[in-house]
Amino acid sequence: MDAFAPSTIPRRVLRGVPVSPGIAIGPAYLLHPRKREVARHPIAPEHAEREILRLRRALDAAAKEILAIRDRIGGGVGEYEARIFDSHALILRDEEILAAVMRDIRENLHNAEYAFYRQMNILAERFDAAKGGFLKEHLVDLRDVAARVIDILSLAGGGAGEVAPKLPDPVVLLARALTPSGLSQFAPGKLLGLCLETGGKASHTAILARSMEIPAVSGIPWADLGIDAGRMVIVDGDQGHVILNPSLRDIKEHENRRAARLARESELEGLRELEPVTRDGKHVSLAANVELPGESLSVLRHGAGGVGLYRSEFLFLGRDDMPGEDEQYEAYRTLAEALAPRHVTIRTLDAGGDKRVAGMEDGDERNPHMGWRSIRVSLRNPGPFKTQLRAILRAGASRNVRLLFPMISNLQEFRAARKLAEEARAELAAEGIPHDPDMETGCMIEVPSAALMAADLAREADFFSIGTNDLAQFTLAVDRSNERVSDLLEPHSPAVLREIQGVIEAARTQGIPVTICGEMAADPHLALMFVGMGVDELSMSPVSIPEMKRLIRAVGYEEARLCAREALRRGTAEEVHAYVEERFVEVYGRTKK
Ligand code: PEP
Ligand code: MG
Repeated sequence: MDAFAPSTIPRRVLRGVPVSPGIAIGPAYLLHPRKREVARHPIAPEHAEREILRLRRALDAAAKEILAIRDRIGGGVGEYEARIFDSHALILRDEEILAAVMRDIRENLHNAEYAFYRQMNILAERFDAAKGGFLKEHLVDLRDVAARVIDILSLAGGGAGEVAPKLPDPVVLLARALTPSGLSQFAPGKLLGLCLETGGKASHTAILARSMEIPAVSGIPWADLGIDAGRMVIVDGDQGHVILNPSLRDIKEHENRRAARLARESELEGLRELEPVTRDGKHVSLAANVELPGESLSVLRHGAGGVGLYRSEFLFLGRDDMPGEDEQYEAYRTLAEALAPRHVTIRTLDAGGDKRVAGMEDGDERNPHMGWRSIRVSLRNPGPFKTQLRAILRAGASRNVRLLFPMISNLQEFRAARKLAEEARAELAAEGIPHDPDMETGCMIEVPSAALMAADLAREADFFSIGTNDLAQFTLAVDRSNERVSDLLEPHSPAVLREIQGVIEAARTQGIPVTICGEMAADPHLALMFVGMGVDELSMSPVSIPEMKRLIRAVGYEEARLCAREALRRGTAEEVHAYVEERFVEVYGRTKK
């Protein structure tokens, strides 16, 4: 389709959540779950009730999604469009449909996805064959509801094995829900931007979009607004809006903003070789968060001092088997050698939550972020865990690798993980395989119980890395992947900031270094406070490093200390924000943005 051909669909500006910065302008590619293959497998008779429970949960989740979209559209686009979703909700509540699907599960022992899909197809055929317009008109709603429920049932927060379409030309991808593995399968350069219906700023899809430098906005219910594939779309990941069928004026304006952004970035390139030191000489390491081993070029281009967090699980996503020791070793070694003598902190597998790894799953999770996840999975699977530890220790033969354990929630877990690392090291030594016998071993502080036990953990760990994405999600009880509550994941929360200060103090008392590697590290306000709290390293997406270096070089350590001390006395996030913004303007002569 000609992206500029006259359209019956008017220009529309849709507000969402900005999750990855930058501006993309290009033709729309619709990743519509309607085309999803529906898995079919028989279930055991004793599992029929469990399948029905899964189905009911999926129907509830779909109803909640539809209600949220209805509210958003009603407030933004218009009441007429919002009413579409009332009929979707009616289909979900239909007792006859539910009874037929339950019967299919119990009598024919079909899995929930397939039973639901079958029933929706029977209905769709009836609608299609009906005389008169009403039922036919609702065919599209029926298909949409079916896709939503099947999507929830089969994805349940992220599925391994999604296959990305092969794209001939670069596009702006419009997807309902995109998992990190789904995103990582697109060829580099093919995605100009992302417009998503679901997913918060701290979701792993958003994190990956930032590391791939793909502008993205989420919280946009595009699928029901009748956009045509190939039409022009603008994704503004700085301001958090998407424009469907933009005017020429919109395009010009966004092109200008994109050019200004590029000019700013090239100006910052001059900082690449400079050290991140405050005006009064305090060095604060600026390191990169890396998801893909191929990102080492981006790490160097943006002037990072090393890798503060390599999320190794991305090597495990989107495949049906687990990478073996040699394959992992190659990936880790490539990264470590490309960046030597800079340090590379490799975090062991953080499976679960919104990242599904084949072979490490445990069925449906009610609370995936708090369930079968991360170090818990590794400790209960010592075989694959040791395989990874051996690969990391071997990659450390170049002596610039650090080992990091995720989601530690108590001292026993840290000790157990360390013991396995020690066993792996002893095995390598006995086999005469080169490795680092003295690798520094760190503990992520991203669960409130670990923050409370920081003094004890600091006695045993060689370094700390504070994962503010999870720490904030658990401290504030706000799901990081849910765009509906994104605004509650308040980065200036005094509770989270005081917790972080306590962890830094515990580390300083024991003389071990502390990195902050969650998304908060890249926020200029918070970074000012973290420097003042005495953090040793801030680790972030490579793209955020140059601007952060400029900020650090322009502030005095004493000034930052005063700012942190005063801000921590404030009782609300708003008060912290207002106070830091004032100091920020004083130091930099401008507001945060
Ligand atoms: C964090 O939780 O802040 C973190 C850095 O880890 P991840 O985002 O991978 O959960
Ligand atoms: Mg985490």
